[in-house]
Amino acid sequence: MNKRALNTISTLDHVEASKGPIPCSNSVEPYLTDESSSFKGVAEKVFLPRCEAEVVQLMREMYSRGVEVTVSGSGTSLTGARVPFGGIVISMEQMTSTPMRPGFQALQFKDQRTNREYRVLTGVDQKGSFMIAPPGITLEIVEEVLKPMGLMYPPDPTEKTATMGGSVATNASGSRSFRYGPTRSWVRRLRVVLPFGEVLEVRRGEVKAVENRFIIETSSRGVIHVPLPTMQMPRVRKNSAGLFVEEGMDLIDLFIGSEGILGIFTEIEVSLTQSRETFQCLAFYPSRFQALAFVEKVMSLSRKPAGKPFMGDFTNPLSLEYYDGCSLKFLDWGGKSPIPIPGNAEAAVEFEQEVDEETLEVCMEKWDELLDEFHPIQTYVAFTEDEKRRLVEFRHSLPEAVNQYVRTRGVSKVATDVAVPEDETQRMIDFYEEVGRRAQTERVNRRLGLSPTHIMSMEDESLIFKDEKEAQGLKVASLYFGHIGDSHLHLNFLPESHGELEYMKNLALEVVKKGVELGGTVSAEHGVGKKFYLEDGTVKPLLELMYSKEVLLGMAKLKLAFDPKGVLNVGNMFPKEYLTEAANRL
Ligand SMILES: Cc1cc2nc3c(=O)[nH]c(=O)nc-3n(C[C@H](O)[C@H](O)[C@H](O)COP(=O)(O)OP(=O)(O)OC[C@H]3O[C@@H](n4cnc5c(N)ncnc54)[C@H](O)[C@@H]3O)c2cc1C
Repeated sequence: MNKRALNTISTLDHVEASKGPIPCSNSVEPYLTDESSSFKGVAEKVFLPRCEAEVVQLMREMYSRGVEVTVSGSGTSLTGARVPFGGIVISMEQMTSTPMRPGFQALQFKDQRTNREYRVLTGVDQKGSFMIAPPGITLEIVEEVLKPMGLMYPPDPTEKTATMGGSVATNASGSRSFRYGPTRSWVRRLRVVLPFGEVLEVRRGEVKAVENRFIIETSSRGVIHVPLPTMQMPRVRKNSAGLFVEEGMDLIDLFIGSEGILGIFTEIEVSLTQSRETFQCLAFYPSRFQALAFVEKVMSLSRKPAGKPFMGDFTNPLSLEYYDGCSLKFLDWGGKSPIPIPGNAEAAVEFEQEVDEETLEVCMEKWDELLDEFHPIQTYVAFTEDEKRRLVEFRHSLPEAVNQYVRTRGVSKVATDVAVPEDETQRMIDFYEEVGRRAQTERVNRRLGLSPTHIMSMEDESLIFKDEKEAQGLKVASLYFGHIGDSHLHLNFLPESHGELEYMKNLALEVVKKGVELGGTVSAEHGVGKKFYLEDGTVKPLLELMYSKEVLLGMAKLKLAFDPKGVLNVGNMFPKEYLTEAANRL
């Protein structure tokens, strides 16, 4: 085989027929923002294609006219990634059924409320069970249809209304990524409509980069050379910031996490695994040092590459989550916790362990031993569905309480999504603590009208807080929680006013810079979308905190190979001007 044949793939000419006029949404408004509420876009029209052929038809037309297109899933992004700034929106919400084909089992579901039908196909081959899913199906419905089969799709982002398409485009992950890895680990095959309207089918393992490029043969545009930028990705377990690029990489990995800038997914094939019984545990500790020592011990027992299947180990959890003292105080103060929080708790660790009937007893003994070694104040163990539901509520109640807190004060949440290499977790936590103390001091001094560097005394406190509990709650200016097993903790600031908001945005920027300095990523799971930062009065894409502008121009050049007119998901990862600059260099 010659060298060129090694990395050449062809687009597909033939797609199923369109179903008539492509429907449009009555209202554009709901598509002009996302869950971050930080971006407000504009668009002329929102199309709701029902099948791949309609996506192809739309892209061919828009590309030929040079009209910008933004792809939308459920709009749960926190980065403005699905927010359009001109042109049209293609929303994938009606593409919820994979077309039937022989040799597969169809799993169907009809939502009685909306009358919408959902269908995935499942099969088994030498690599195990797999599912062929449409892009617009949500993760909660996937969970629903797979459950009776005893199967599950392991990536478990908290937001279950996200679509399969959106979660692949952002390489989403969740608490179980500690064991199962992010979405990337589970994607086997993708069908992608390229910006100029041809379909590419990419199967994992079939096309590898050779000499830092891919070669794609197309019907309408001849041979496309896709050059990979020269760059080093951060050495973290989870990363959703920027394109995935490494030597000898698989073509499918270029599309996963590409935030829709290279093409639109119309069919997604993923591996599945057997769902097993689990129990969950939440342990409260009197100090963060005890909690972190417990985490370190669990990590040392479960150090295995992400994405490996169940090994039958007794202390090999699916997830390992952490809550700092401020998170617990904040929940307790607001009366929002479905599980009572001990008054002297300064940290909590949550984990989920797979079990089966035979090993349950010995597994519980092992965990008891492990827990006892680090002396928790109290543990909450969940076996039944009801007990587990309370734990899920506990986990969700924190971000919800934070959102409500800032909403009622008319400000936005300031949050980070940084992950660092495992051996830098402690240093990152120390920095969160330091920044948290600064935010707290600033808050109290602001209230007292003192200088920002004033160190508060007991008398100062009694002047502004009515009672001890209120003092504890209101002093919480920031908190951090999340996926400690993946060295990925979300730091949230809780601004009370617009003045505090600006101050906290600067602190958050310091935190992201620190994460990068430690070899981490600016975004472990949300992606970067249209997020930016200000430096010396200049607006820069968030990704530029992690990579040089040259690398971003390299990504822009790569995008231009697929999208020479620059029409698809413009503004994600890097601004439009970078496309122009990269084009001028060609
Ligand atoms: C409360 C809350 C909790 C969250 N928790 C998590 C979490 O635990 N883990 C996590 O990873 N994220 C989390 N998120 C972020 C968000 O849910 C994810 O980024 C999700 O994957 C986005 O999916 P979506 O369908 O809503 O996509 P959208 O928000 O609509 O779009 C996101 C991106 O995907 C692109 N896209 C959508 N569909 C396609 C397609 N078919 N082809 C190509 N590109 C496409 C869009 O253009 C956009 O760039 C959370 C969000 C919220 C609000």
